[in-house]
Amino acid sequence: MSTLYVVGTPIGNLEDITFRAVRILGEVDLILCEDTRTSRTLLNKYDIKTATMSFHTHSGLAKIDKIIEMLKEGKDLALITDAGTPAISDPGSLLVSKVREGLGDGVDIKTVPGPSALTAALSIVGLPDHQFTFIGFLPHKKGRETLFNKISEAKKESFVFYESTHRIEKTLESLRDHFEKAETPNRKVYLARELTKMFEECLVGSPEELIEQIAEDSNKTRGEFVVIVGPSFL
Ligand code: SAM
Repeated sequence: MSTLYVVGTPIGNLEDITFRAVRILGEVDLILCEDTRTSRTLLNKYDIKTATMSFHTHSGLAKIDKIIEMLKEGKDLALITDAGTPAISDPGSLLVSKVREGLGDGVDIKTVPGPSALTAALSIVGLPDHQFTFIGFLPHKKGRETLFNKISEAKKESFVFYESTHRIEKTLESLRDHFEKAETPNRKVYLARELTKMFEECLVGSPEELIEQIAEDSNKTRGEFVVIVGPSFL
């Protein structure tokens, strides 16, 4: 039976890859990459010569059918994305669900775990409770207000989401406004930025304090972010 390996890759520092991931990527018949050029840097570092094919958000159903056909023919494939664990807020989840749907017991889907920005950020924040909700990316329009209301009304729960450099200030302003309305203006927010990279840092404060810190140094809005909203009793 063929196997689809879902392989975690680094979220910045290329040394953050497991021995098993390197071996599997070297052994499979084909590596499916979100962006083959991005993954090439990683594959070159570990001298992995396996052929690659792109699979991304716009790949369409024909590509999925092609991948299912290859698995039916007995080929072993590995799925990687640009960073972290496939299927966590990236195109991986669509492919995995379609392969499950299409092949059922006719394929082994195996995890080769590795880093994820989600777990990396949570591990350095030290939340007092183990209960958190992961949102992925915030919706840009529809549902955004409802979500901010839900976050600001929750008392014990923490919320984790991914955010881009373009929207981080706007998001902090929305959190500030909603927390003020909920009379919890000092609720703690953690901005885990550029994890495992040269400018890695974790800023902590109320939304207003974070807005002030960012205003003093615009470099702090650069790069990739995981935002963690702590519980309101902290
Ligand atoms: N599948 C990935 C994972 O397991 O983390 C996430 C993919 S998602 C398309 C990309 C988002 O993850 C970025 O916009 C950013 O919010 C977050 N992210 C990825 N790498 C990061 C890093 N090194 N530091 C902070 N956040 C990061």
